[in-house]
Amino acid sequence: MVLMSIRNSVRALEAYRFTPRLEPIKLDQNESFDDLPASLKERVLAEFMSSAWNRYPPLTPQLLERRLAEKHGWDPDGVVVSNGSNVLIQAITVAAGLGRRVVTVAPTFSVYAYQAGLLDAELVEVPLGAAFELPVAQLKQAVAAGSGALFIANPAAPSGNLHPEDEIREILDHAGGMLAVIDEAYGDFAPSDLSALVARYPNAVSLRTFSKAFGAAGVRVGYALATPEVAVELRKALLPFSVNNFQAIIAMALLDEPQLVEERMVLVRSERERLQQAMRQLDGVTVHPSVTNFILFRVADPAAVTEQLLNSGVVIRRQDHLPGAAGCLRVSVGAPAENDAFLTALRSAKAALVGATRAIGGRT
Ligand SMILES: *Cc1c(COP(=O)(O)O)cnc(C)c1O
Repeated sequence: MVLMSIRNSVRALEAYRFTPRLEPIKLDQNESFDDLPASLKERVLAEFMSSAWNRYPPLTPQLLERRLAEKHGWDPDGVVVSNGSNVLIQAITVAAGLGRRVVTVAPTFSVYAYQAGLLDAELVEVPLGAAFELPVAQLKQAVAAGSGALFIANPAAPSGNLHPEDEIREILDHAGGMLAVIDEAYGDFAPSDLSALVARYPNAVSLRTFSKAFGAAGVRVGYALATPEVAVELRKALLPFSVNNFQAIIAMALLDEPQLVEERMVLVRSERERLQQAMRQLDGVTVHPSVTNFILFRVADPAAVTEQLLNSGVVIRRQDHLPGAAGCLRVSVGAPAENDAFLTALRSAKAALVGATRAIGGRT
């Protein structure tokens, strides 16, 4: 049997599944709804053209590390850049979780549990409260009991709420044996920034990405803010030369134009409020408050609602398979016209919002 060659913990994992859809209104991956300006792309391409493609990039992208350190008021030796923050989640699990314990909450970003499974960590998933609040007492217990890695997304995903800083601090106070990761992928949308808190704990790490607020998911750049001591260890778990010239050039170009992100944040926040308000008017829809660029909401028949939105050309994400998220769907905040199309389609899915429609034949 050929699969005998593969470790049991790998075989036991279900492959990460994502079904790309062709419908035009794409609100399923929390991406930026607008692409980067053509003028910026041209500048980046010109710089990439003039770089040497035959040469290795620097071992780590030092110029970018320095720029990020300036942005955050951080020691440049504590900035670790990688090709996507997913890769850093893996590196953190390799460095701190492998053969030990990985503590996180449920539901949350699936990559934490997935990497724990892949790397034979003992996975402890503490259920969030009924309103997706942090189970502070249980988390304190789970982190105090062993060594390994702790992952908390704040703002949270897929629930979109912001956990109070006091609660995070209380957990960090008990997590001395853990590499404690605060994943701030959605921080700019709130806005929220826990770097000052993280700086007070030598074992804490703030995780950031260029995929969401920066609008560069296709480029694959993420980074961690850590102490220099921890950063040295994390770099050992990353592959050498893994950030290419193109990635470094784009990230630097984006840091040169902070107004691009700030303008996008203003629009996302106002559209987020508009969407939440309109969705709350609908019978059968329960909206979970969000500070991010997506909204989690509950309906009676999530499968039928998803299907009816698809028929209107709108793609959103089902989350009803997640623990504590029965009936839940997630929509990304899109461009204003996309949000209008989503709201129109949602309104016309009326019957599926309030009751199971499968039995009586679906669409209305
Ligand atoms: C989208 C997202 C990321 C970003 O991952 P990248 O690999 O940098 O694209 C990280 N954490 C959470 C919680 C996310 O939702």
